[in-house]
Amino acid sequence: MQKNIICVACPMGCGITVELSDSGEILSVTGNTCKRGDAYARTECTNPVRSLATTVRVTGGVHNVVPCKSAGALPKGKIMDCMAVINAVDIQAPVALGDVLIPDILGTGIDIVATNHCPAK
Ligand code: SF4
Repeated sequence: MQKNIICVACPMGCGITVELSDSGEILSVTGNTCKRGDAYARTECTNPVRSLATTVRVTGGVHNVVPCKSAGALPKGKIMDCMAVINAVDIQAPVALGDVLIPDILGTGIDIVATNHCPAK
């Protein structure tokens, strides 16, 4: 089986072809122009992950929401569940840049952190 993917590890966007056995074992990776592409392709075929950037609701702040991101890559299959957790949270102002808003989201070991500040009213 052959899987064609676009590497998103840098803006070059190389097209990568991964050959897989019937059992899903990676037989070869071609088309990447650097080692990062090889690693990206192998991860994408075995355990795809994504970084998450969004906003979280704030109470008592000068803004109603504050931007946030995952401190590391999350399993792709858990992104929607993570968004449900984030959407259900209401953070009390003030929020400082880098504050951990949701520690260890869904037991992934990854924190959701603020990427801006939100002073109290
Ligand atoms: S293979 Fe290397 S050069 Fe190509 S997109 Fe991926 S990281 Fe960039």
